[in-house]
Amino acid sequence: MLGLPDHIHAFLFDLDGVLTQTAKVHAAAWKDMFDTFLRAEADRSGEEFVPFDAVADYDDYVDGRPRLDGTRGFLASRGIDLPEGTPDDPPGTRTVQGLSTAKNVTVLRMIQEQGVQPYQGSVAYLHRLQVLGLPRAVVSSSANCRDVLRAAGIDGLFDVVVDGLVAQRDHLPGKPAPDTYLAAAKALNTPPEHAAVFEDALAGVASGRAGGFGMVVGVDRVGQAEALREHGADVVVTDLAELIEPAGGQGSDSAEDPEGGGSGGGNQA
Ligand SMILES: [Mg+2]
Repeated sequence: MLGLPDHIHAFLFDLDGVLTQTAKVHAAAWKDMFDTFLRAEADRSGEEFVPFDAVADYDDYVDGRPRLDGTRGFLASRGIDLPEGTPDDPPGTRTVQGLSTAKNVTVLRMIQEQGVQPYQGSVAYLHRLQVLGLPRAVVSSSANCRDVLRAAGIDGLFDVVVDGLVAQRDHLPGKPAPDTYLAAAKALNTPPEHAAVFEDALAGVASGRAGGFGMVVGVDRVGQAEALREHGADVVVTDLAELIEPAGGQGSDSAEDPEGGGSGGGNQA
């Protein structure tokens, strides 16, 4: 009925890319910020400008992680060491905090301009859980989580929200560490082995595996099913609707098809 084993009693959802169509917005905002920075660095040093890759760099260093960790991780991948700075640094200051703030300003502007669309398959899945009275949490690294839930019209569908602000308050290390997911399961009074994690990020499925959760569902919006499995997904779907509408048997590029057939990510709208 829910497409998951019977021992799963609680449901923990990532936000961006699982519930809402905001992962692409984040990727674009990161690219905007890093390319501005990298271009300025190239101008200063006279070395070649190598842009941020909104697919590979986003997946490997940024997606799913707390904002500051994302900035540090990508800079480290380029061998760039910047001072930490402070949260008061103006956007674009040549510090970890200043660059991170610039990314946040951009993503908030984009969200304001474009609005936030939820994935309808996720909304349908949440409604089914609600009808069944099963506990639900959002577990997001984002500090803007509650605003995004509200903008998407799905803020009333969760018992617990563990977001970037909660993590900061409670000193929880971010994904790929399992702590934020474990905190959500605890808040729902469910042992991790009886909870499912729904994640679209490599760092996110890794935190599900690290936490010993009963099921890690990789949500593949961009054609990276194999990488999701390698990092911790027990099963991969392209949309949560697949879990409640058995894929009519043909042409479904879903969970149980480990060959994947190189579908090239054509499912993304
Ligand atoms: Mg995500």
